[in-house]
Amino acid sequence: MITIKDLEKYYSTDEVRTIALNKLSFSVNEGEFVAIMGPSGCGKSTLLNIIGMLDDCDGGSYEFKGHEVSNYNERKRANLRKHNIGFVFQSFNLIDELTVYENVELPLIYTGVKPAERKKRVEEVLEKMQIMHRRKHFPQQLSGGQQQRVAVARAVVNNPTLILADEPTGNLDSSNGNEVMDLLTELNEGGTTIIMVTHSEHDAKYSHRIIRMLDGQKVTENVLA
Ligand code: ADP
Ligand code: ADP
Repeated sequence: MITIKDLEKYYSTDEVRTIALNKLSFSVNEGEFVAIMGPSGCGKSTLLNIIGMLDDCDGGSYEFKGHEVSNYNERKRANLRKHNIGFVFQSFNLIDELTVYENVELPLIYTGVKPAERKKRVEEVLEKMQIMHRRKHFPQQLSGGQQQRVAVARAVVNNPTLILADEPTGNLDSSNGNEVMDLLTELNEGGTTIIMVTHSEHDAKYSHRIIRMLDGQKVTENVLA
């Protein structure tokens, strides 16, 4: 599904040039659950932003389902992203002014899904995430665990083939964290590919493979299952 080869990314501020990704290479198969680990500053977020087509690279290649994304402009990347990728963040990133229902409906509005179909799909996914009873509430009225379930619902409502999760349990206690990891596992067993950045060795064990990074490079890979 994903082939990354010699990926490079630089950030320049004043006289300082930081190498965030230094000829990073790896691939991810359809249906895999991959964890990416490494110390703060090693390039994990940069990598996830490039895989998620939110940012572009400065060198190397990134192939997603046969598309050479590194040649794509912002519009083409956005189009590919909308139909293929769901995001789950550490800080949930829900819109406080919108209800649970409206937050989850948003990606369907962006992709032009008709109202009747939107209602059906939002209700289906809210049921699945066991958060239907809170659909009229606003994010601030929910616990962290419930907010992350809403965020997962929003990430999957468009049936993405890939979920990118950046420290999905980073703001949760262990019980809510495990619940979110179980949800991700269930989605993966249903066929969704997952790439997750984590600092937690516990969470990484839910994956099939751990890629460890240091200074913008891959240092090791462990296959777990
Ligand atoms: P990102 O760049 O994706 O935001 P960071 O590397 O900045 O990720 O870290 C995200 C959070 O994890 C921060 O709150 C940070 O304090 C915490 N963190 C960083 N390194 C570790 C670690 N080794 N173990 C546990 N938590 C960490
Ligand atoms: P991680 O997610 O592993 O903590 P990042 O991808 O956030 O690592 O950062 C990789 C390197 O790039 C770090 O040295 C960081 O300071 C630098 N970096 C990240 N984003 C920017 C930016 N917008 N401007 C300048 N430097 C950045």
